[in-house]
Amino acid sequence: MTKAQNIFIVGTAYSGSTVLGNALNCHKDIAYAGEVNRLELFSQLYNTAEIGGCLYCNMHDKPCPLFSKENIRKIELAGVEGYFSKFREITGKEIIIDGSKFLNWMRTVYYSNAFAKNKTKAIISVKNPFSFVQSFVSREIGLVFEGANMWRDTYLDAFRTLNSAGIPYMVVRYENYAFKPQDSLEKVCAFLDVEFDKTMLDFEKKEVHAIGGNLHALTWQDNFRIPPITMEKKIFSKEKAEKFKSDHKKFGGWVDDEWKFTLKKEDIQTILSMPMLSETMNLLGYKIYDLLEEYQKENIGFGDIKL
Ligand SMILES: [Zn+2]
Repeated sequence: MTKAQNIFIVGTAYSGSTVLGNALNCHKDIAYAGEVNRLELFSQLYNTAEIGGCLYCNMHDKPCPLFSKENIRKIELAGVEGYFSKFREITGKEIIIDGSKFLNWMRTVYYSNAFAKNKTKAIISVKNPFSFVQSFVSREIGLVFEGANMWRDTYLDAFRTLNSAGIPYMVVRYENYAFKPQDSLEKVCAFLDVEFDKTMLDFEKKEVHAIGGNLHALTWQDNFRIPPITMEKKIFSKEKAEKFKSDHKKFGGWVDDEWKFTLKKEDIQTILSMPMLSETMNLLGYKIYDLLEEYQKENIGFGDIKL
């Protein structure tokens, strides 16, 4: 029998955690709950006419069976000590994934939940800092160096927190997952001590009830539309969503590499010159020279970038 497990996905935004969570959610023993730390904010939206449930249900115009008003209340009452158990009760699945990603949230939950410590594991979700900075800057969140700092600090904090608490963890690099989904999913299943289930590979149109998440992960749905309230308005124009849908490819075998075409050479240099950033990339398993070589293929005059 599958053992109860509390799983945290930690890392930065835009690291591919929604496409990972949506795929894992297809496993019979795993439920992906999404960004639980934002339940309070989202429950306000869910309880108004503007959003009638999770993003999936919102797109399909139906009431959300997981995040119903009644269940939201039960989860909120369970609090940080009890929400994992409450999700188990509601979903009937033993392994619950919290995709909040914030280290501070994980620390709060972990240290207020003495009985669950031996049930806790973490997945570090990451995409390379160039790609993260591209997502960060295109949403007008901040400047290149700020994005680079945020990326480095988040992952150093992840290693520090997980090592100091002794929480078992594994790293899932978005690029590997996007190119070879089966390989990454098999490793995650081994880490969670469950059998690999190939239905996870066809997650794109499957039903998933999770809080928040990246809209890109839902563009495969037949009824895809931009919800009335989204924090992604800046990058998700109607035209862009339509285009995204019309040339949409199945997940797997390709990777979103817009950074190679939009970041300037000085941006790459700025990112690499942040203290400890390239070391952090190494720790997470990135091969910096390979990434720079990929960039070089698309950009002439690469010779000036210094490591
Ligand atoms: Zn739903």
